[in-house]
Amino acid sequence: MIRSQPSYVKRSRKDSRVIPMPWIDTHCHLDAPEFDVDRDAMWQRARTAGVAIGVLPAVKAAHFEHVRELAHALGLAYALGIHPLCVDEARDADLDLLRDALARHASDKRLVAVGEIGLDWFVPGLDRDRQERFYIAQLKLARDAGLPSILHVRRSADGLLAGLRRIEVPSGIAHAFNGSAQLARSFVERGWRLGFGGAMTFERARQIRELASTLPESVPVLETDAPDIPPQWLYRNAEQRARGEVARNEPAELPRIAQTLAQLRGWSLEQTAARTAANACAALPRLQALLRPPV
Ligand SMILES: [Zn+2]
Repeated sequence: MIRSQPSYVKRSRKDSRVIPMPWIDTHCHLDAPEFDVDRDAMWQRARTAGVAIGVLPAVKAAHFEHVRELAHALGLAYALGIHPLCVDEARDADLDLLRDALARHASDKRLVAVGEIGLDWFVPGLDRDRQERFYIAQLKLARDAGLPSILHVRRSADGLLAGLRRIEVPSGIAHAFNGSAQLARSFVERGWRLGFGGAMTFERARQIRELASTLPESVPVLETDAPDIPPQWLYRNAEQRARGEVARNEPAELPRIAQTLAQLRGWSLEQTAARTAANACAALPRLQALLRPPV
């Protein structure tokens, strides 16, 4: 029986080697408990939909090993870091745990970045000074490890940029970016890529759609942020959620989310896959080797 190739696989004209034409989900929290019921089947759905690889950013020290094991078990990439929303509950010693984990796994080819780190100035009641301290400390660890970073940015682009001016780090991805064109330009000028996902599929998301259409083609990367940031077709309003309906986003949605980027840019789907994959590999260079088909 001839088994058909997944849709992201193309054969080159010159030889019969298989060349991947992948969709890359640069940001998915597959360690989240929402996936406990069907994690393997969920990732299989993504593969069938043409998603070649995902990047799993950790959010707290207690998850580092689980995220790493999961990435190895599913053939994915991962990042280690302490999320700004987890900083209040984190201990200072967790920064030492991060330093140790980055050193211990320095030669792990699936460890592609430090993340998810950053600042959240949207959620009320968080300790901003502590967030800032953890952000700067983790930038220093990224610099020392020579790894790119995956940044959480919510109403905090100014603060993040101030940190990047203080600590020179390899760039990376500003995930779920939703700021002005001027702030976007400040990241781009420093070599950062911006992550676009489910939010872009809403027509009312004018600012995000404008950025997705107009930024240089070397900038956008795709992400789901699964299980969060559902695209428009999975969105449930407050009333529906009160009735118990859930909107769980997953990497299998990525190719459909990508259609919005393709439409906004006037790209074919093939161009969109190739361009965003190239951008993801430029942002997170270790991804490239993980995409190579086994010899
Ligand atoms: Zn995230």
